[in-house]
Amino acid sequence: MYLSDCPRENIRWAGGRRFRNGNATNLDELEGKTMNAVEDKVMRVEIPKKYELFIDGECRQSKSKERLDCFCPISGEQLTSVPIANKDDVDAAVQSGVKAFAKWSGLTAKKRQQLILKVADRICNEVDRIAWLETANTGKPMRESVANVYTAADRLRYYAGACRALEGRVLPVTSDITSYDHRVPLGVVGIIGAWNFPLNMFIGKIAPAIAAGNCVVYKPADATPLTTLEIAALMNEILPAGVVNVVTGTGPVTGEAMLSHPAIRMVSVTGSTETGRKVMRGVASTMKRVTLELGGKNAQIVFPDADLDRAAQGILLGAFLNQGQVCTSGSRIFVHRDVAQTLKDKIIALIPQLQMGDPFKEETRMGTLVSKEHFARVSDYIEIGKKQGARLLCGGRRAEVAGLPNGLFMEATLFDQVTPEMTIAREEIFGPVATIQEWSDYEQMLRDVDGVEQGLAAGIWTTSLSMAHTTAKRIQAGRIWVNCYNLFPSGASFGGVKASGFGREDAFETLFEFTEVKNVIIDSADSYRRFYG
Ligand code: NAD
Repeated sequence: MYLSDCPRENIRWAGGRRFRNGNATNLDELEGKTMNAVEDKVMRVEIPKKYELFIDGECRQSKSKERLDCFCPISGEQLTSVPIANKDDVDAAVQSGVKAFAKWSGLTAKKRQQLILKVADRICNEVDRIAWLETANTGKPMRESVANVYTAADRLRYYAGACRALEGRVLPVTSDITSYDHRVPLGVVGIIGAWNFPLNMFIGKIAPAIAAGNCVVYKPADATPLTTLEIAALMNEILPAGVVNVVTGTGPVTGEAMLSHPAIRMVSVTGSTETGRKVMRGVASTMKRVTLELGGKNAQIVFPDADLDRAAQGILLGAFLNQGQVCTSGSRIFVHRDVAQTLKDKIIALIPQLQMGDPFKEETRMGTLVSKEHFARVSDYIEIGKKQGARLLCGGRRAEVAGLPNGLFMEATLFDQVTPEMTIAREEIFGPVATIQEWSDYEQMLRDVDGVEQGLAAGIWTTSLSMAHTTAKRIQAGRIWVNCYNLFPSGASFGGVKASGFGREDAFETLFEFTEVKNVIIDSADSYRRFYG
């Protein structure tokens, strides 16, 4: 385990309770269930003052002297620091992957399945500790962190099974000539994650990569590397050394070293649209395959026939899960004029249920934003919204939580009377800020929904099956939810269109992204063809 491998000059402590949520595998299953604090005593998780890189199955000192400090957005204290891996560190991680690749890709899919299933079990056995670290590093409610651990384990189990169904294709060209395709892993793949779901992103992105037989160099987001480093160490108890390597650091130093490394065959990046553009430029010289999961400015459309109680609940989940720091955040609410006032009343009546508080407490539904910089960015958008004439319906301020004066708590914020040209209706805010736009003309509403540069997700609230189908077909987005929101089942393809990127995650087809087709043509005729002479 990481903790016993690392130098622990100074151990830090913090409080929390032990959590168990039975067999729930994701947030949908958690809904309506009580998360029991199984032990009343306060839980303590040790965090080393310094982490190192995780390369070739061991905790390895970085060759760089530069470090990144990691903070707890709940207390404001520094939790630890991690190296900013440089080119040499990235190269060491890649070489470790190259060395492990022959063995790992040579295993049968059945053997890989067995090992990956063990990793899933191992992570579930550590649910409290992992969830605690995730909450300490991100400020998200413990309830969501626990759900994220089970979702992550479910992704591993899904791909453990899916890799066994990765089949080829045979084309009988003539009676003698047979062509067949089979899928082979790429080699070492580079994966770069965002900070909003650090553990889910790490596991969800590496699961198809390693299941398909690749080795991985993973870079977590700058501010949130804790669970990635800890889980990589847990995985190492089960997987061969070098299959999963972790390099911490910044985008311009560590990320770009990955983009330009000649032995990395593919990069899969989750991040902002701006980062996606840099990534595409960065891989040009080494011709890597790329998949990009980028930002969104997602709409939730409410039709006049919708079940408004259901829509109000779903809109809240869509807009405020993880304090709105979700790429699919359904932050643009398009409500039909006839039901607008009723819906607004229902949403406002539900706001108190988003109980803000200490994220380690079981009853908390809204925690903190991830960092001071991000808090300032979200606050700026709120000011812009006010200046541009949107009407603040609720929230809009920093929230006070007793005993946590440094916590980066932001009230759930709703803007009314928003028009499509306003900045808050066009740019991704990535915080607990949603806008309400009323509509009466269906065609105009669809133009406004699609009138942003991104196209990740959308929600439709209606009781009309035909309206749901028709509208789902027309919206430019990769994921459409009908009468639900923010559900992410394993096996359902997830990804964006337009400036939200390309490539699909979470689905069987994701195995195709992490493999390439090798074609073999065999001539089995006794006599050979004479092309010359
Ligand atoms: P970000 O773009 O700032 O960083 C994402 C990752 O890219 C980080 O690890 C960062 O270090 C790295 N990076 C930055 N510049 C780089 C460069 N030049 N070369 C290589 N790597 C570089 O994003 P963030 O602030 O961490 O996350 C928020 C963004 O991520 C939002 O826009 C959100 O919508 C998006 N996101 C998308 C999805 C999705 O599945 N579509 C999921 C979660 C988050």
